Amino acid sequence: MSETPTWDYAPAPESSAIVNLKEEYGHFIGGESVPSADGATMETINPANEQVLTRFAKGGQEDVDRAVASARKAYDEVWSKISAADRGKYLYRIARLLQERSREFAILESMDGGKPIRESRDIDIPLAAHHFFYHAGWADKLPYAFPNQTVNPLGVAGQIIPWNFPLLMAAWKLAPALACGNTVVLKPAETTPLTALLLAELIQDAGLPPGVVNVVTGAGETGAALSSHAGVDKIAFTGSTEVGKLIQRTAKTRNLTLELGGKAANIVFEDAPLDQAVEGIINGIYFNQGHVCCAGSRLLVQESVADLLVEKLDHRIKSLRVGDPLDKNTDVGAINSREQLDRICELVESGKAEGSELHQSTEDLPEKGWFFAPSYFTGVAPSHRIAREEIFGPVLSIMTFRTPDEAVEKANNTMYGLSAGIWTDKGSRIFKLLGEMNAGVVWANTFNKFDPSSPFGGYKESGYGREGGKQGLAAYLEVK
Ligand code: ADP
Repeated sequence: MSETPTWDYAPAPESSAIVNLKEEYGHFIGGESVPSADGATMETINPANEQVLTRFAKGGQEDVDRAVASARKAYDEVWSKISAADRGKYLYRIARLLQERSREFAILESMDGGKPIRESRDIDIPLAAHHFFYHAGWADKLPYAFPNQTVNPLGVAGQIIPWNFPLLMAAWKLAPALACGNTVVLKPAETTPLTALLLAELIQDAGLPPGVVNVVTGAGETGAALSSHAGVDKIAFTGSTEVGKLIQRTAKTRNLTLELGGKAANIVFEDAPLDQAVEGIINGIYFNQGHVCCAGSRLLVQESVADLLVEKLDHRIKSLRVGDPLDKNTDVGAINSREQLDRICELVESGKAEGSELHQSTEDLPEKGWFFAPSYFTGVAPSHRIAREEIFGPVLSIMTFRTPDEAVEKANNTMYGLSAGIWTDKGSRIFKLLGEMNAGVVWANTFNKFDPSSPFGGYKESGYGREGGKQGLAAYLEVK
């Protein structure tokens, strides 16, 4: 295949001067920053240079108890008593403040998580604000969403989120919970706690009553203390299928929504606009380092156009810029943690060992930091681990098919069912396939497009419950 050296651009880094990192961050409980009861802390590292950014509190049972009690008090005494219109006004204020401080949030997100500033600036932060705007509108219109039914908040919601979209996931969880009249204890991921903590400060600036939103930081044990807490009325979790199953067994509440892994198939038919499809595939797995649970990590391409598509894709992959997440020209940033990088390397090795052929971008990777060259495999069999397991990295597995039936069968041949993509010129084919695909979201002639009004969630081992839209509201309400 042809080599495609990238053009040399001068560095164009965003300045991090706007971000005021504290030396240490506490939990946010009852409107105040507080240390852990036992004083324990952890560090968060910038994955692009392996330097410690700052330390934050590592929560234990006592801290989770305190946060749940604070959320209960705020629910009983304030949040359940104020009018729905007032709840909407608070959410609206949060959305406006997020927009005003979007640059600071975008830079902090890229520093803490490693995603390119282009993604955090243009996707994560605007979408997070959009979720608050969208749900601000619903707060006083819930009876219209569920006509002839009575709706009540559930009470205290425990929410546990992963590291791939730290602020956006917080917004996905907080906005509907608050709009529906619940109070919250949120547990961000251990490698990316900073934007959730900054959001907590912003929520305080928005004047929310203390205790309505609480943030407890820490790792798996902190999450487990929250998800198995007897004092919460709802658990919403986004993360791995393994932890999701554990939570399902240990949660005391029946109100559970789980958004778990995925192994999405992007299906390209011979009549598809191929150049557009290439951009969709790139967006689906390489931007954001493949750190997306709905990443299009399997490409199913019709045999008649396979060689042409792979040639175009190869050309495009080799022009992706990998490097400093804060540089505005960067396409692919840093892998979130050393552990995640090891997981990607292990799966890639298994792909080679099982007989698939590995192709990689030849661009030099930065010497410091955790990076992985954009890669793809050809000659992949559906039984190979790289075709079955979630890789969560910039690695695509390419397979071919001959007929639409074969495409659907291969796409559905997975334990997951979160998302899928169809690329074809024929509208009728899209509608036929939509009914046949076992995926919560199916994109047609596009990929990884999100909107707060459209419900998101999975089939099979990708979890259950929906987030976003009217369906997402139901997850935070008792509907009678
Ligand atoms: P990922 O593989 O995406 O890191 P995890 O499921 O390990 O996903 O993590 C997602 C979130 O779940 C993180 O906030 C993490 O701290 C939390 N978590 C990890 N283990 C547990 C557990 N046993 N119970 C509850 N939460 C957990």
